[in-house]
Amino acid sequence: MLQIEHVSKQYKTGDFVQQALDDVSVNLRDNEFVAILGPSGSGKTTLLNIIGGLDRYDSGDLIINGTSTKKYKDRDWDSYRNHTVGFVFQSYNLIPHQTILSNVELALTISGVSRKERHIRAVKALEQVGLGEHVNKRPNQLSGGQMQRVAIARALVNNPSILLADEPTGALDSETSVQIMDLLKEVAKDRLVVMVTHNPELAHQYATRIVELHDGVILSDSNPVVEEEVPKEQAQHRTFGKASMGLLTSLSLSFNNLRTKKARTLLTSFAGSIGIIGIALILSVSTGVNRYIDNIQRETMTSYPITIQEQSFDLNKIMDSAQESEKEAKSHKDLKAIYPDDSSIKGASSLTSSITQNNLTGFKKYLDNPKSEIHQYVGSVGIQYSYDTKFAVFGHDPEGKLVSADKVTMGAQDTGSAASQMASANTNSDMGDIQSMQMSHLTGKTDKNKAPEIFGEIMPGADAKTTISKVVTDNYQVVDGSWPKAKDQVVLVLDKNNQIPVTSLYKLGVLPSNQYSDIMSKLNSGQEVETDTSPIDYSKVMQQKLSMVPAADQYVKGDDGHYRYIGDNADEMAKVADKAMPLQIVGVVRPNEDAKATPLKVGVGYTRQLTDYLIDQAKTSPIVTDQEADQDHSVLNGMAFAPADDAAKASDAKDYIASLGVSQKASMAQGFMSGSSAGVQMGAGSQGSAATAPSEQASASGAMAEQQTAQAFDQYIATAPQDVLVAIYNQYVSTGTYADNLSDFGMVSRNAPSRISIYTDSFENKNSVGDAIKHYNDKASEKNKIVYTDYVGLMMNSVTTIINVITYVLIAFVGVSLVVSSIMIGIITYISVLERTKEIGILRAMGASKRNVSNVFNAETGIIGLLAGLLGVGITLLLIIPANSIMHHFMGTTEVNAALPVSGGVALVVLSVVLTLIGGLIPSRKAAKQDPATALRTE
Ligand code: ADP
Ligand code: MG
Repeated sequence: MLQIEHVSKQYKTGDFVQQALDDVSVNLRDNEFVAILGPSGSGKTTLLNIIGGLDRYDSGDLIINGTSTKKYKDRDWDSYRNHTVGFVFQSYNLIPHQTILSNVELALTISGVSRKERHIRAVKALEQVGLGEHVNKRPNQLSGGQMQRVAIARALVNNPSILLADEPTGALDSETSVQIMDLLKEVAKDRLVVMVTHNPELAHQYATRIVELHDGVILSDSNPVVEEEVPKEQAQHRTFGKASMGLLTSLSLSFNNLRTKKARTLLTSFAGSIGIIGIALILSVSTGVNRYIDNIQRETMTSYPITIQEQSFDLNKIMDSAQESEKEAKSHKDLKAIYPDDSSIKGASSLTSSITQNNLTGFKKYLDNPKSEIHQYVGSVGIQYSYDTKFAVFGHDPEGKLVSADKVTMGAQDTGSAASQMASANTNSDMGDIQSMQMSHLTGKTDKNKAPEIFGEIMPGADAKTTISKVVTDNYQVVDGSWPKAKDQVVLVLDKNNQIPVTSLYKLGVLPSNQYSDIMSKLNSGQEVETDTSPIDYSKVMQQKLSMVPAADQYVKGDDGHYRYIGDNADEMAKVADKAMPLQIVGVVRPNEDAKATPLKVGVGYTRQLTDYLIDQAKTSPIVTDQEADQDHSVLNGMAFAPADDAAKASDAKDYIASLGVSQKASMAQGFMSGSSAGVQMGAGSQGSAATAPSEQASASGAMAEQQTAQAFDQYIATAPQDVLVAIYNQYVSTGTYADNLSDFGMVSRNAPSRISIYTDSFENKNSVGDAIKHYNDKASEKNKIVYTDYVGLMMNSVTTIINVITYVLIAFVGVSLVVSSIMIGIITYISVLERTKEIGILRAMGASKRNVSNVFNAETGIIGLLAGLLGVGITLLLIIPANSIMHHFMGTTEVNAALPVSGGVALVVLSVVLTLIGGLIPSRKAAKQDPATALRTE
């Protein structure tokens, strides 16, 4: 029973109030065919909409099966319409873009019936109204009568207990009207049918009861419900289950709608995709550029690590001082006096004072701690420690003569003049001399016995197991033989053009050493030099036998228990070399054509294994063990490193002179007589250099002269005063230090590298390494602070910053276009809402909730957003192809390749969906808020 009790409804338009229903009370039986008659505007539709829950009454009550609807919520009304009521309208109200089957299924769809059952029930309902063969047609392919039958089928498919028909025959001819009325009469057999009509004939012919309405008031009722029929109990409030529509349904509704407007959807999506294309393009290009920079960075960083030397210059300080001097010079405007120029002294001073000694032992301790901050930034090449191992290498030239890898020919004929030194490429500039002097002074390490210049260690892998770093194997190719695998294997390293300095070949004994002597003597006498540069087979070099003599093996213990240096004695060294460890040249390598890093020195490369071997060897050598046993006296001459007083020094001086040979004595006498200049030149050199550095005068004078000088010198020394002897001691005898000796003997501590190179994979990480060192320095004591200069960093940092700034600016611009395009999509959705107002009304009449309606529109914007995103990404992928060729053309490199990263593409599609959803949010909420009754009244 449906009870309408004192229901009133007013419509207010501006100041005008229309009383559509005025205190209407009528009870409807569960099973009857009620016709409501009345002139236009009498409130029939209003009454029907209130009965069907499409419109709300202002006052009174609608009691459905004893349940009051006063407290009904939206949800209850939605459910009531969906499950209990079926609507049929004058204008059919079919959804044009859906097939009639889908139209009929709609009510079931909304109530969440499964797809299969939906289909079965919809087909059955259509068969009932005689349209079984037309299920796949669209509404506009049917006649009016057929459409109304579809509407009836749709109303009945949920098997509602109430069917409400608002002038169902109003738009039909009389013949079709009769068919429809027959159908409704049939339907009314087992349910309540309320039909509004202003055709009294049809009403009287078919209806079981006729209610007449006029100006919102019931005039007559042909078969009113009598008092007894009305249930006695009080109206109760009960809620219905809810009508629900899944997301998929919303999507398919929207998708079908969009399909009917393909061109517009495509255009909308395209417009929406423009912003996405912009961002995607920028992203692709910047990804390409960044990848390129990353590559360059990685490659650059492998060739330019942060290098911390045992000694470091503060380059900035030197530059500052130079600039200051220049400024000062310019400030002398009125040239009226003499201005002493101290720039060279200041320069030298800034140079020497800028040299700092790094405590690498302390820093290595920090690096060895795996918990140190720095490790997270270290790259794949790792941290490399270099050690000053000391050794000599000998070989035999084609004529069988002993050749030293350090100075080719052994013996006195090598006078070491400037020209020959320059040619053999072993010398430094003047500046370098000062540096190395200062350096050795600072470190206590001397250059004596240092490894031959042409020998270099091959960078080992980051882990202990890999002999050769990937950086090396990646950038070099083996042109013959193989990479060394053991300590006694080495490779010959050529440059990109397969070249190696001819002097290096002399030093390895590949070319005859007498040619070299010839060249040197010609150089010294200013003659034209001819060289033999005919190509040499790889195999010839690889056959060359070399022997490795550690520094400690260049000393022999004499009968007096003192060790004697034999490193410059050809005969003795030949014997030592015969017994020494052989080095085998197992391969020839050269940098690849496109090598990015060339960490190997042209010459001979040896393995870390050899370094390790040399370190171990030195530690256990007799000379080092002996020296370590008595740390106060030099094992070379038994003299104290630090004599107690001047008397001890004088006596040491006498002992020293007595032990010298004739020519040594003579040269010393000459040096001593000619003043202190010789002494300055010898400077920090050890006693060995005094013996091996004959002056030019000495070599010029004959043997007889030498003899006399030596004798005279001996006589002079015998009676010399103590201060002269002390002076001689200080200048020539001073045995240096304990540390000097150990260093000369090749003793190296693994805790004290001479250089630490920290490799990173990016500039960012390199900067972080810099920060980590800063933090280390903050905590370290003054003398443990680490000083180094980072040259590449300063320059490259600004490049990356500039690129980042450009990218951000571009993204900001494109972001604006993205906002614009989402606003546009909002507007288009808004238009769509206006267009589909009727559909919204139909959906609501079917029982769709506000939420369902907004979901339909959200689904639509979502689909457009998705389409826009996919279109944008797709178009970008196409645009990248020409963009790349343009970039290659202008940049002159094919290494910059724009590429859209997958994650970026996905993110952009999501962004597009989210933005369009936001753009469509307001319109879709407006759609949801539409009053269903009003929505249905719109045409
Ligand atoms: P009928 O269906 O009998 O032709 P209606 O129920 O449609 O009449 O309308 C009853 C009265 O209420 C009419 O005067 C109509 O103008 C008015 N009316 C109906 N709906 C609205 C509305 N949404 N806003 C203002 N007036 C309305
Ligand atoms: Mg009407």
